[in-house]
Amino acid sequence: MVRLNENYLKLPGSYLFSTIGKKVAAYTEEHPDAKVIRLGIGDVTQPLVPAIVRALHEAVEEMGHAETFHGYAPDLGYAFLRETIAEKDYRARGCDIAADEIFISDGAKSDCGNIQEIFSADARIAVCDPVYPVYVDSNVMAGRTGEYDEKTGTWSRVIYMPCTAENGFVPRLPEETPDLIYLCVPNNPTGTALTRDQLAVWVDYANSVGAVILYDAAYEAYIAQDDVPHSIFEIPGARTCAIEFRSFSKNAGFTGVRLGFTVVPKDLKRGGAAAHSLWARRHGTKFNGAPYIVQKAAMAVYSEEGKAQLKDQVAYYMRNAKVIYDGLKEAGYEVYGGINAPYIWLKVPDGMTSWDFFDYLLEKAHVVGTPGSGFGPSGEGYFRLTAFGNYENTAEAIERIRRLKKG
Ligand code: PLP
Repeated sequence: MVRLNENYLKLPGSYLFSTIGKKVAAYTEEHPDAKVIRLGIGDVTQPLVPAIVRALHEAVEEMGHAETFHGYAPDLGYAFLRETIAEKDYRARGCDIAADEIFISDGAKSDCGNIQEIFSADARIAVCDPVYPVYVDSNVMAGRTGEYDEKTGTWSRVIYMPCTAENGFVPRLPEETPDLIYLCVPNNPTGTALTRDQLAVWVDYANSVGAVILYDAAYEAYIAQDDVPHSIFEIPGARTCAIEFRSFSKNAGFTGVRLGFTVVPKDLKRGGAAAHSLWARRHGTKFNGAPYIVQKAAMAVYSEEGKAQLKDQVAYYMRNAKVIYDGLKEAGYEVYGGINAPYIWLKVPDGMTSWDFFDYLLEKAHVVGTPGSGFGPSGEGYFRLTAFGNYENTAEAIERIRRLKKG
């Protein structure tokens, strides 16, 4: 009899957001009149901007005529989009990236979950702690992480790099040498970022030990400070040690439209083989191309009109971030993030766990956030609020939390 992949059975509990969903559903069933405000899951709330809506309509129209109909898209993406990304996201910032080093996909979650397939089964992974759970979970499924320790919430073969208020959320170089280093900058959940100098330390380190950095820049559009790089390829030496993931979800509201891309430089080689060829093979074998209409819509992201509209959309969310940050600070909380990212990371009151604080906020303020411990053991004692709500709800949620603190 066939056996199922037992690695999946090792995954502890359910995915963080399904646990939150169940708790909120149970609460609202018991309290149907509670006006619950959700600042938990990192989904956007604002509609697609007009330039993107128009591009989608035009592309749909093309699909309705035999002369302009498009079937399967090229596996690796349409040249028009790959060229545009290489020019506008990379060369315009001084990064040496060519169009054929860009692989278009249906989003960053798939890519950062799938990338581990091109590395050896025994690769040691290092992750920032706390961090987006997909990196560890996808390696658990591949059997790379060893055994789970319920008490500490850690996997025996994973190298955890704590990022807490004590080290300013900057990971220290690990004592054990990893093969794959996941960096998420700006970071989900802490909302903090690395400066060019801080990132250069990692690029030099990866090149010196032969490790590869898997750099998730899904929140790049939110970077506001000049010394925070928008791409790891702004750092000299990154072409020989880094892969970068980008998404259209948070800069253009594509969470339900789906599009992202991964940059694999041709200079990234290990044991004489190029990661670029392996990823091209993997992508071409298992992915049948992102939809034409969506790739056309992405072109509007780079148009002058689209850029201006999206700048306003990012500013809208960052106004929420400021309301959350300032409001919590005034209420006496220790607060981080919210400057280069749409996430605010706060320290929960002494004596409470992250999940205690989740229950407390839900019951007393009807506000839903995300417990820090769901992102890794060093997230315990912290809590994440997102700036992706609408402004009115966000302001109301913070007002409720402030009142709670006074009461
Ligand atoms: N990477 C990080 C760090 C994220 O927080 C998210 C989404 O929340 C993703 C990737 C997923 O992006 P996408 O919607 O493109 O799959």
